[in-house]
Amino acid sequence: MSIAVALDGPAGAGKSTIARRAAAALDFIYVDTGALYRAIGLAATRGGIDTDSADEIKTLLSSVTVDLAFNDEGEQVVLLSGEDVSGLIRTPEASMMASKVSAIPVVRAFLLDLQRNMAKSRNVIMDGRDIGTVVLPDAQVKIFLTASPEVRAGRRYKELCEKGMDVKYEDILQDVITRDYNDSHRETAPLRPADDSILVDTSELDFEQSVEKIISVIKEKI
Ligand code: C5P
Repeated sequence: MSIAVALDGPAGAGKSTIARRAAAALDFIYVDTGALYRAIGLAATRGGIDTDSADEIKTLLSSVTVDLAFNDEGEQVVLLSGEDVSGLIRTPEASMMASKVSAIPVVRAFLLDLQRNMAKSRNVIMDGRDIGTVVLPDAQVKIFLTASPEVRAGRRYKELCEKGMDVKYEDILQDVITRDYNDSHRETAPLRPADDSILVDTSELDFEQSVEKIISVIKEKI
């Protein structure tokens, strides 16, 4: 039977970088589900869709496909109607749009089977917001990874600066706080730790320590 690790937590907790490294060390596939919501967000932006209109969203969903593939390096690639949009979905605007569309129940339903299928026949670390609670409620390992808003904003700020983006720390912090609020207050699949999840706070841990901690939690459980 394949093993599933559900890794949930708020924006900027370091889930993706930590999970990528832990997955490589354990020879698991790393699945970043946020990329799926980002791809739908990009499609909505491109189509000039009013995200408050259920009809417009439904029409959009019937006209696009979203898929995950893996390149030769084992890195996840997200395909929007066949186009590789992996690079285009990493802007602050795309983050905010992803947070908006992810609150829409039909969007979540649209992406559910795709996520579940990814975990059917391989060992995965799947990162998201509702993996342990909704997508993979039977996952053998559930981790809720978090850090203070200031620490998370600081990390994201550094990451975007390193990519050459012109961003302000205060704006990023505000984005983190807004996204936390949106993600944990939406009606469908709000961000919350699964009852049987293990809480890992990385505020005081550096990257290597966080990776070690996650690997040791996973190894203890499997
Ligand atoms: O993880 P990432 O920051 O890429 O996710 C982008 C947005 O997608 C999040 O703010 C969240 O609103 C949404 N999301 C979600 N459920 C997931 C993954 C992401 O609602 N499983």
